[in-house]
Amino acid sequence: MDYDVLIVGAGPAGISTALHLAQLAPDLAARTLVLEKAHHPRPKLCGGGLVIDAEVILQRLGLDVDEVPHADAGTAHFDFEARGLDIHVPRTHALRMVRRDEFDAWLASKARARGIAIQEGVTVEGVAPGPEGVTVATDRGEYRARVVVGADGSKGVVRRSILPDSAVRTARLLEVLTPPPTGASAHKPGDAYFEFACVPGGIAGYTWDFPTQLKGRPMRCWGIYDTNLLAGAERPPLRDALAEEMARHGYRLEDYELEGHPIRWFDPFNRFAVPGVLLVGDAAGADALLGEGISIALGYGALAARAIQSAFARGDFSFRDYRARLRRSALGRALTARTALAYLYYHLHWRRFQRLLWHRLGGLVVALAWLLVINWARRSR
Ligand SMILES: Cc1cc2nc3c(=O)[nH]c(=O)nc-3n(C[C@H](O)[C@H](O)[C@H](O)COP(=O)(O)OP(=O)(O)OC[C@H]3O[C@@H](n4cnc5c(N)ncnc54)[C@H](O)[C@@H]3O)c2cc1C
Repeated sequence: MDYDVLIVGAGPAGISTALHLAQLAPDLAARTLVLEKAHHPRPKLCGGGLVIDAEVILQRLGLDVDEVPHADAGTAHFDFEARGLDIHVPRTHALRMVRRDEFDAWLASKARARGIAIQEGVTVEGVAPGPEGVTVATDRGEYRARVVVGADGSKGVVRRSILPDSAVRTARLLEVLTPPPTGASAHKPGDAYFEFACVPGGIAGYTWDFPTQLKGRPMRCWGIYDTNLLAGAERPPLRDALAEEMARHGYRLEDYELEGHPIRWFDPFNRFAVPGVLLVGDAAGADALLGEGISIALGYGALAARAIQSAFARGDFSFRDYRARLRRSALGRALTARTALAYLYYHLHWRRFQRLLWHRLGGLVVALAWLLVINWARRSR
């Protein structure tokens, strides 16, 4: 056997798994290898919004995210037709935005500093679990490991190898980076905006406008998220809905480079492991409600490391209890709640209901969000 643990993908889910292993079981971490097809710092399309749960997990790992270039939003606005809820967090920011090339490279450097081996420029082409371990085929030859972790994102090859027939629910996302507005915009430069005006038109999601930075220069990150939950309904192309929202703030979408990428979202009834192989991060499923996945990926890493430690302690690599562990965890409960809320909320897409919810029932939304959606990392052991 070449390695005890082989992690496919050096994004937040893969590196978090490695960092948690280094914390929990240093002997296993010393016999762990991370394979990454790209080279850090590598581009990753993402708004880079870190919620409180991401910061809590990083702190527990003894990491100081202040080291990563960032832009903080003092207030996060959740609006329907430009009116809604304003979320402030006393004495700190409501949302922190990082650039993913910088954040992921920083995380990988922290793992390397803790003795984790990462091989970049190696593309995994398939995994084949067997009774004695898992064979991993790559463009650089074969590797063998006792346990393989699929942390290779929404389109990952590990999930497709081990669970080729599993149901895939994906959200569509488009994103564009712009300079700050030069003309009139009702958006404040230091705030983050989530706008749900597209929901009655059949897009089960929202547009966002976040402050960010590029090599220290202030920028805005715009985008649109669609869970695809209203896919049967007649709906405008995502691009048009984003262009319309940006035009309200003085931007012409066609002046900027638009990019898209899917997110695979969490379904509690999915399978997340087979003997010898488990999935984490987007490969397992991110948040359905808002498409938030960085804190989730970091949280999966903690769970996977515990499952791997216990597998080696018991000599049982079936991972038959991984789904139950996941669903019982604070992360799993938050993900399940977000999937349920996504089904409920986006199916109540009528303008009248949306106005009532965002304009009049803000207290209820905040209470539900705090109880069910956010702040799960502090509840996890
Ligand atoms: C447009 C957009 C905006 C988003 N905005 C936010 C946001 O603001 N906040 C938030 O929390 N989430 C956001 N997300 C979601 C977030 O980006 C993901 O949930 C998160 O990146 C998941 O992390 P991961 O480690 O599971 O996967 P990834 O970050 O996708 O990392 C997977 C890694 O695996 C590597 N890899 C893939 N295939 C192979 C292979 N075959 N062999 C070897 N290596 C491989 C990739 O190169 C990559 O480094 C956004 C997503 C999109 C698409």
